[in-house]
Amino acid sequence: MITSDFHMHTSFSTDSDTDPEAMVRGALEKGLQTICITDHMDRDYPFCEELGENAFLFDVDEYFRKLRGLQEKYAGQIEIRIGMELGLQPHLGGFCREVTKKYPFDFIIGSLHVLDKKDPYYREAFSELSDAELYERAFEETLKILDNVDAFDVLGHLDYIVRYGRDKEKAYSYAAFSSCLDAILKKIIGMGKGIELNSAGLKYGLGFCHPHPDVLRRYRRLGGEVITVGSDGHKPEHIAYEFGKARQILRECGFQYYTQFAGRRPHFIKL
Ligand SMILES: [Zn+2]
Ligand SMILES: [Zn+2]
Repeated sequence: MITSDFHMHTSFSTDSDTDPEAMVRGALEKGLQTICITDHMDRDYPFCEELGENAFLFDVDEYFRKLRGLQEKYAGQIEIRIGMELGLQPHLGGFCREVTKKYPFDFIIGSLHVLDKKDPYYREAFSELSDAELYERAFEETLKILDNVDAFDVLGHLDYIVRYGRDKEKAYSYAAFSSCLDAILKKIIGMGKGIELNSAGLKYGLGFCHPHPDVLRRYRRLGGEVITVGSDGHKPEHIAYEFGKARQILRECGFQYYTQFAGRRPHFIKL
């Protein structure tokens, strides 16, 4: 059993209304031993009316105060780690280094959420691109990010862009994007970082977690070992979403261990 969920959001994220304590209680109900709360921090997220000013930013001091309180309250019941999902863009290397140095985070997920100053969640913002072109663009941008930003521990939801395609995975396979995907995986391994298995892909109606098992297998074959497991839940009921399946996928792809982080250091747990 996978006993930790290393990707979840609370009301510190613009896209969640869930009180952090409700996530802790939800994790206890699911029988987890460890969670890492990873709220969104997306500097230079493009302004949109719907979300208003300062979307996907939070007060880090307040965040630590709140989560430290929960660590104390639930000590002996569940281990609560303090993380962040940091939105990566090629020009944000300095900001990312600063914010991750200033605060004693346990774990940083680095994720692409903005592409060419637009959020691909809004597929119509890329109406001129076919699905295949959009995916290629996102993978190229990921590579560019990796050349410019290093203040993170694992790359989040590597092929999440496929969620937003008009026909989702129809235009997607490892083979179709192998040169870009291989370059990303090799770069990540060379940087001494990892990736995550993000089970939200299943929740979004795709037939796979992120990244696709063919990408996971390739990562393992290239020597990749660091892999955290996260639901990307924004509500208590999403915690540890399909983790039984996630474990099975990891084993089938050649992994014997999954990874947790504390104080930005990886720990390997037998699957
Ligand atoms: Zn994300
Ligand atoms: Zn997330």
